[in-house]
Amino acid sequence: MPSPLSVDEALDRILDGVAAMPAEAVSIEAAHRRTLAEPLAALLTQPPFDASAMDGYAVRAADVMRLPASLTMIGESAAGHPFDGSVGPGQTVRIFTGASMPAGADAVVIQENAGQEKSGHGATKVIVREGSPDHGHVRTRGYDFRAGDVLLQPGRRVGPREVSLAAAMGHGTLRVHRRPRVAVISTGDELVLPGGPTGPGQIISSNHLGILALAEAAGAEVHFIGIARDTRDSLAERFAQAEGADVIVSIGGASVGDHDLVGPVLRQRGMVLSFWNIAMRPGKPLMFGRLGTSRVLGLPGNPVSSLVCTRVFLVPLLRALLGQPPRDALPVQARAGVDIEGNGPRQHYMRATTAAGADGLPVVSPVRSQDSSLLSPLAQADCLLIRPPRAPLTPKGALVPILPLDF
Ligand code: AMP
Ligand code: MG
Repeated sequence: MPSPLSVDEALDRILDGVAAMPAEAVSIEAAHRRTLAEPLAALLTQPPFDASAMDGYAVRAADVMRLPASLTMIGESAAGHPFDGSVGPGQTVRIFTGASMPAGADAVVIQENAGQEKSGHGATKVIVREGSPDHGHVRTRGYDFRAGDVLLQPGRRVGPREVSLAAAMGHGTLRVHRRPRVAVISTGDELVLPGGPTGPGQIISSNHLGILALAEAAGAEVHFIGIARDTRDSLAERFAQAEGADVIVSIGGASVGDHDLVGPVLRQRGMVLSFWNIAMRPGKPLMFGRLGTSRVLGLPGNPVSSLVCTRVFLVPLLRALLGQPPRDALPVQARAGVDIEGNGPRQHYMRATTAAGADGLPVVSPVRSQDSSLLSPLAQADCLLIRPPRAPLTPKGALVPILPLDF
C-alpha cells in the first residue's frame, strides 16, 4: 500500500495541469460571482465632466479671495440639468451636488457660507461671508478614472464592488470564465433524500447539500445527480449520468470496505487514479483521478470529512478552473486560546471558533468534539485550526494557522 500523500502533495496533484475554463460573454447583470477572463479597461472617463461635490454656488475663485463678496446669480446647474452659459467676473450660478460645473467657474462656495439677497432691480445677489475659495468641492473630470485605464485584472472575482466599478466603466457585458460544472453523487444504501421519511437503518443524505452550497459559492454551476445505491450497477448508472461534468464529486463508498465500490466502478469506467489515501484528519479515504475530461473527487462519507475535504481540495480546484489564484492566502494567523495537544502523523483540521484578541489577532479554540461524524460542532465552528503532522503540544497564546470556513 503506498504511503498516504501529504495534504500539500495531494493539492499539487489536484491542481496539476488545470487550465481555466473558456471565456464567455455575459451581461453585467449576470456577472456577479463570475471571474474576469480579460483585463478590463474603462470605456468612459469618470466623472465625465467637472462636477460639484456640494450644494452651493459655482464661482470664480478670484472673486471670493476677499470676503465678504457680493456676486450676481445668473442661473442654476442641477444634476442632469447643466447650465449652458458661462460664469463671468462677479457672477455665480446656484449649483447642486453632482451637477456639471458651468464654464468660467472653478470653485464651489458651500451654501452654508453664503446667503441670497434680492437687489433693487429684481436680480439675486449672493453674499459670500466665509470659507476659503479652494477647489476642494469640485470633482474634476477623470478624478476616479479615465477612459483606457485598466482597473481590473483577469482572474478577479466579480463581487459587489467590482460589478459596480465595471458598470461605471461603461461595460454592459463582461468576458468571464465559463462556470465549471460540478456533478455531485451521494452513495449509500442507508441514504434518504432530505425531507423524506426515514425507515429502519436509514439516515438523511445531508452532505451533498453542503457540498453543492460550497461549490456554488466558489463559482461553480452545480448539479445533484442523486443517490447511488451500494451496487456496481447503481453506481455505474449515476456516474454515467454525471459524465461530461468538469468535476464529478462522489460522497462515501471510497474506502476499502466490502460495500465501498466507488473506486472499482470508476476504474472499470476508465478513471486514471491519481491517489486515494491522504495523511489528513478528517478525511483519510480521499480519492482523486481523471475520467475523460472530468476530474473526479471521491470524498469520504462522514459529514465533517466530506465538507472539510470540499473546502480544502474542491474549492481550490474550482478556483483554478475559474482562472483565480487557487490557493488560500495561508497562513491566516491566530493565537491559540487554549493549550492544544500534540498531533499525530496526519494533518488535522480541527473545528474551531474564533474570538477577538487583545493584540488584533483572532484567538482560536477548538470546539469540544472533533468526531468527524458530527455536524452540530461543525456548524458551531467558524474556522478550521490546522495542525501539521506531528505538531508538538502548542501552548495557549502561540501562533497557529487557521482556515476560515465562511468565504
Ligand atoms: P462511507 O464513506 O460510505 O463508509 O460513509 C461513512 C459514513 O458517512 C457512514 O456513516 C455514512 O452513513 C455516512 N454518509 C455517507 N454519505 C452520506 C451523506 N451523503 N450524508 C450523510 N451521511 C453520509
Ligand atoms: Mg457508504
